[in-house]
Amino acid sequence: MAQNSPEKLRVVIISKEKFLDRKHSYAGKVLAIPLISGKNATVITEEKTTNNNTTYSSKNKKYTVVIDAGHGGRDGGASCCGNKKEKKVVLSVAKKLEKKLQDKGYKVYMTRSSDSFVKLPKRTEFANKKKADIFVSIHANAAPKKSLRNAFKGIEIYYLSPAKTQRAKEAAAKENSVMFEDKDYYTKNAYLSLISREKIVESHKLGIDVSNQMLSNVRKHFGSVEDGGVKTANFWVLVGAQMPAILVETGYITHPKEGRNLMNNYYRSLLAQGIADGIGRYLKNK
Ligand SMILES: [Zn+2]
Repeated sequence: MAQNSPEKLRVVIISKEKFLDRKHSYAGKVLAIPLISGKNATVITEEKTTNNNTTYSSKNKKYTVVIDAGHGGRDGGASCCGNKKEKKVVLSVAKKLEKKLQDKGYKVYMTRSSDSFVKLPKRTEFANKKKADIFVSIHANAAPKKSLRNAFKGIEIYYLSPAKTQRAKEAAAKENSVMFEDKDYYTKNAYLSLISREKIVESHKLGIDVSNQMLSNVRKHFGSVEDGGVKTANFWVLVGAQMPAILVETGYITHPKEGRNLMNNYYRSLLAQGIADGIGRYLKNK
């Protein structure tokens, strides 16, 4: 598989079996290629990126981003050293990010803009209601115990593997139920795995862009900052999101240097700028 231009994706399939007695089809942004008919049918899908795809045309579209500042109210999140509280740090980053995304011309909503408690399922529910194109949840991490505070550091990005959770499968099924209703060769399971896979891929891509931009941004001004990578995890707050969704761990509040950085207003600005640039890059290449 290769993408040599923004508008063309080349997929080559090599098989010992005789296949393709049916033609491929498009539905939304999904290209479906039936390989073997019958009980063992497998469906390989890839995104269609030609510019005549009206559903996902990125030109002239005003994108919507929902920013989720983690924790809040009676849920303080991670804390350290008396004065360092995750809920405060992440709200500050979220507010800066809100401003930066608005400056880029995006429509932006916040799950919370003050020190208030918001239940986890309400956060993605809100993003679904707003028909967001992207959901980004902002957090700060903590070492599992005090003696490990020097060992745990870095910016980490997480995305959900929806295929693993029943809830996300159901949300995806509901969202797209009309999409394939006249495609009789899709089994329900093939369909569900198809949706999940697409969302995993998109969230992963988003995560990579955000991670790269954040790291290059903070490293310019604050020297070495650990790259904690882009990884999968089943964070409850991401479950049910009907759009590419990531959880950003902005650093370890318990690490001496990172904790200090996170308390620095300029550092938080750079983090927010990095997330905004990463989102911008992802949407541009969509
Ligand atoms: Zn958190």
